[in-house]
Amino acid sequence: MTKVLIIGGGVSGLRLGSLLAKEDISFKILESRERVGGRVLTHNQDNNYFDLGPTWFWPDTEKTITNLITELNIPTIEQYNEGFSLLELSKHQTPKYVEANELNNKSRRIVGGISALVNVLKDSISPSNIELNKKVTSVIKNKNGTITVDT
Ligand SMILES: Cc1cc2nc3c(=O)[nH]c(=O)nc-3n(C[C@H](O)[C@H](O)[C@H](O)COP(=O)(O)OP(=O)(O)OC[C@H]3O[C@@H](n4cnc5c(N)ncnc54)[C@H](O)[C@@H]3O)c2cc1C
Repeated sequence: MTKVLIIGGGVSGLRLGSLLAKEDISFKILESRERVGGRVLTHNQDNNYFDLGPTWFWPDTEKTITNLITELNIPTIEQYNEGFSLLELSKHQTPKYVEANELNNKSRRIVGGISALVNVLKDSISPSNIELNKKVTSVIKNKNGTITVDT
């Protein structure tokens, strides 16, 4: 019997799954999309990697994600900070140039994009523990203590 049900296979759900797998606790991840990663999406074009969702982390202030990346031995690089960056805040505003080091000072990036983190977490989980295309629509605790999950 599955002990833990994880709704969503983003970084949080995958990390939780990888920790449960280490402890040999049975679990299932239900993910509504056809892929894991959630908001993380790295586009690979001719081995150039473009992060379209989360992109940076700041080791000085973001200890949790920094410790996770270090624990998993994922190679990182410093964000290139010379010159100017083009910043587009919305489709309705003209993009503007800002000093690059104002935007991403002391930030780092993952080699191969943030999907590299997703892939390491995913690979630590047996594929049979992840169900894609399963959107959870309700979770009900029954009177007898059992739980019914609808997808
Ligand atoms: C454009 C953009 C840029 C960002 N930049 C950065 C950055 O530079 N640095 C940074 O640290 N953070 C950044 N973030 C924030 C970062 O993306 C999130 O903090 C992180 O991805 C959240 O991970 P999560 O697993 O908690 O949630 P999510 O990634 O949202 O994962 C939730 C998962 O649950 C699934 N799900 C939802 N409802 C259901 C359901 N009913 N049934 C089944 N599955 C369901 C979703 O499909 C999804 O896969 C950025 C976010 C965006 C959108």
